[in-house]
Amino acid sequence: MNMPGVCLVVSGPGLVNALAGMANANMNCWPLIVIGGSSDRNQETMGAFQEFPQVEACRLFSKFSVRLSSLEAIPAVIEKAVRTSIYGRPGACYIDIPGDFVNLTVKKSSVKYIDCCPAPPISMAEEMTISKAVSFILHSKKPLLIIGKGAAYSRAENSIRKLVDQCGLPFLPTPMGKGVVPDNHPYCVAAARSRALQYADVIVLLGARLNWILHFGLPPRFQPGVKVIQVDICAEELGNNVKPAAALLGDIKAVTDQLLDEFNKNLWKYPSDTDWWKDLRAKMHSNEATSKALSLEKQLPMNYYTVFQHVRDLLPKDCILISEGANTMDIGRTMLPNYLPRHRLDAGTFGTMGVGLGFAIAAAIVAKTCNPEQRVICIEGDSAFGFSGMEVETICRHNLPIIIIIINNNGIYNGLDSNTWKEMLKFGEPSTHAPPVALLPDARYEQIMSAFGGKGYIVQTPEELQAALKISLAEKLVPSLLNVMINPLSGRKKQDFHWLTRSNM
Ligand code: ADP
Ligand code: MG
Repeated sequence: MNMPGVCLVVSGPGLVNALAGMANANMNCWPLIVIGGSSDRNQETMGAFQEFPQVEACRLFSKFSVRLSSLEAIPAVIEKAVRTSIYGRPGACYIDIPGDFVNLTVKKSSVKYIDCCPAPPISMAEEMTISKAVSFILHSKKPLLIIGKGAAYSRAENSIRKLVDQCGLPFLPTPMGKGVVPDNHPYCVAAARSRALQYADVIVLLGARLNWILHFGLPPRFQPGVKVIQVDICAEELGNNVKPAAALLGDIKAVTDQLLDEFNKNLWKYPSDTDWWKDLRAKMHSNEATSKALSLEKQLPMNYYTVFQHVRDLLPKDCILISEGANTMDIGRTMLPNYLPRHRLDAGTFGTMGVGLGFAIAAAIVAKTCNPEQRVICIEGDSAFGFSGMEVETICRHNLPIIIIIINNNGIYNGLDSNTWKEMLKFGEPSTHAPPVALLPDARYEQIMSAFGGKGYIVQTPEELQAALKISLAEKLVPSLLNVMINPLSGRKKQDFHWLTRSNM
């Protein structure tokens, strides 16, 4: 059973700092319990040390937010928080503990212990709607399966893999849906993402919201009138932005099994020689050829594609891949394959920067105890790294052999090279004349790692990149940081649509 993460914070500013992480978990539908200390009850409204309306503040970022009324209430409140965090759509919960509770005592006999809740009950979709959904798929000319992170969370990989193989359906993972079915599966059409979304006539949406990540499910990114078969555990999600042709309310694994049972009655497989497949394959080949050509460019400083191609060649298949930053995350997502479910973490639904190092620390601590051979690789834009770069100290203190790769373009989206920066001296202080997205050029981030005893590498060529990454992968005890200098003007290859386009308005 999936269990919540737990985070303990001090009162006032401690809790305020935790709100960003709590919002991030809640927006991503991940279970989390935050336990906060708070000012003493008998000093309330008096201006107590770190006094803050914490329960109210957490309400916007959680499913459940409560202050303990007594010590005796602790077991019941903890049980409710755990249950609320994992039942239905998972999310965050907040428990507030007043400071004066710390010195209170209670009679053992007056505390009623409560067992932990059982795993969430499994809900299934209505049979009638399952048959309706299957009949839409059977009659579809251009079907598409979209696999979201809800599918990863519900551990539905075996069932979904069966559905894909048995029905021959093209599929597209969302960023953290990657790996539920491996990216190198022959039916994965990620390399033709825009084309697949734009022309599909029936879409099976497995645990993904039609929010900005999926362009709201609306034209021009989708066909007007596309039939969406929406599978979600949250009833309120059904119909957001697009009215579903079939709404399948239930657990993804259970509903996928229901769909498989229904397909078994028909013994149907989508043919692999349709015009839809031909169109998708042609688009995939041309997109892959463009990325390949970019990756083979020999100029220095390197571009994103060259860097990612070399990283890709060396990544262990079972590594945990963490990524944040704008271009770094977007291009990295297309260039770096995932083969296993729940092996990719990134800025997510909330687009939060600064989460990468925390994710890496959590993943590395799990790996250290459960699977010491597994590597955690954290690929960061230089700006994204800046949000929580000092966590390098935490990484070194715990001896976590995380590999941080900073794709350093001297800025946010784009930066300036050091010569341009110096030329600005003519006009005065460069920082006041440079575009606000430019960061200090050629920053030596690798020295932050060496300052704490880890290994830092400055990387300027493909050879240096390969050499440093090979050594870091072989190193099982010491953390590494590769500061990879790229062309500050490097960007994404030409796109058919601007990423956030909703319509042609
Ligand atoms: P992505 O970022 O991959 O597009 P989202 O976070 O937008 O994914 O959507 C995930 C969806 O999965 C949410 O709407 C959530 O309610 C749903 N979900 C989470 N767990 C389950 C589950 N076990 N069964 C069905 N749906 C689930
Ligand atoms: Mg950058």
